[in-house]
Amino acid sequence: MKIYADNAATTKMSKKAIEAMLPYIEEYYGNPSSLYSEGQKAKEAVEGARERVARCINAEAREIVFTSGGSEADNQAILSAAAIGKKNGKTHIISDTIEHHAVLNTLKKLEKEGFTVTYLPVHENGIVRVNELRAAVTDRTCLVTIMYANNEIGTIQPIKEIGGICREKGILFHTDAVQAVGHIPVDVKDANVDLLSASAHKFHGPKGVGFLYARRGIKLESLIEGGAQERGRRAGTENVPGIVATAAALEEANASIADLSKKLEKLRDRLILGLNRISHSALNGDERMRLPSNVNFCFEGIEGESLLLLLDDKGISASSGSACTSGSLDPSHVLLAIGRVHDVAHGSLRLTLGDDATEEEVDYIISSVEEVVTYLRGFSPVWRDLVNGKSKFIL
Ligand SMILES: *Cc1c(COP(=O)(O)O)cnc(C)c1O
Repeated sequence: MKIYADNAATTKMSKKAIEAMLPYIEEYYGNPSSLYSEGQKAKEAVEGARERVARCINAEAREIVFTSGGSEADNQAILSAAAIGKKNGKTHIISDTIEHHAVLNTLKKLEKEGFTVTYLPVHENGIVRVNELRAAVTDRTCLVTIMYANNEIGTIQPIKEIGGICREKGILFHTDAVQAVGHIPVDVKDANVDLLSASAHKFHGPKGVGFLYARRGIKLESLIEGGAQERGRRAGTENVPGIVATAAALEEANASIADLSKKLEKLRDRLILGLNRISHSALNGDERMRLPSNVNFCFEGIEGESLLLLLDDKGISASSGSACTSGSLDPSHVLLAIGRVHDVAHGSLRLTLGDDATEEEVDYIISSVEEVVTYLRGFSPVWRDLVNGKSKFIL
């Protein structure tokens, strides 16, 4: 069996998205800034895609800026809000400890420039407490940036409540919605969101393209200097095929959210139930407030990397929040933030199901993980110490 269970890392492009982009590679390859017909066709396509993307999140076309993806949108949103804040003498930002590095590293940069950032803790279930956020607001706060849904543990934050507080206090609210858009309903007006980032390759669109929603009247800083594309908010010739495919992929994903999430939630809960039967294991993140396709577990006494390699031998592609996969010595900052100790965090596994997942596949994943975890524990010195009582079980 071959199972791709790493859809939070990236997704396969949908047929509709591929078909949508082809005419803009083969035929209407003109530059949207050109006056002849190939160029005008391309321009119409970009503007049409802008309308369609906007409609999917209940925004207006002029509020959408196409970017190179989620990271760029996060950078632009945060740096723009910070620039507005600075102009008004406000240099305090509120965020949390489980954000994506596109957000965390942008905040770090701002801290070096004199901004103060409050990183709200998340609780054991991976969710920010709204009353703590309210208490962190000062008269110098210019921005709150809290992700819609977490890419590792799948937790969904109380975005509407947070948006309400920000609106009430006159603070800009940005949300990294890369894992949410196309997967759960997102409505920027209903949730009082001012700035929102999304990425096409997370909802079956192409890689290297995404968008930033900026509510009307919010002035965006340009990260890339050059031509006047995107109304001067993002220079560079538009990625026409990518933008058209983004709109096609998002419309398709949005149309299936209701049915698909019902199906995936069932499979997710079956997977959670099955993995919970493995001794000394624990689910990471909240059981209910989580993305329909996300399962994240810790298994005591093993290394996430070995688990991934052996699962790959069984045809299962998954991911881990342990050290080597992230290219650093420390395990996932998200797992540490929800209170997992280093050793336990190293033995983590993230499975993010695809739209076509089946019960049979889920059962195969459960039995494979069980087999591999037992095998690895068989020669793990850490596990031996736990079993012999030399160290204490945590899970
Ligand atoms: C993938 C991801 C990003 C980065 O998006 P890119 O398009 O790959 O730059 C940002 N935030 C979250 C939550 C993500 O999952």
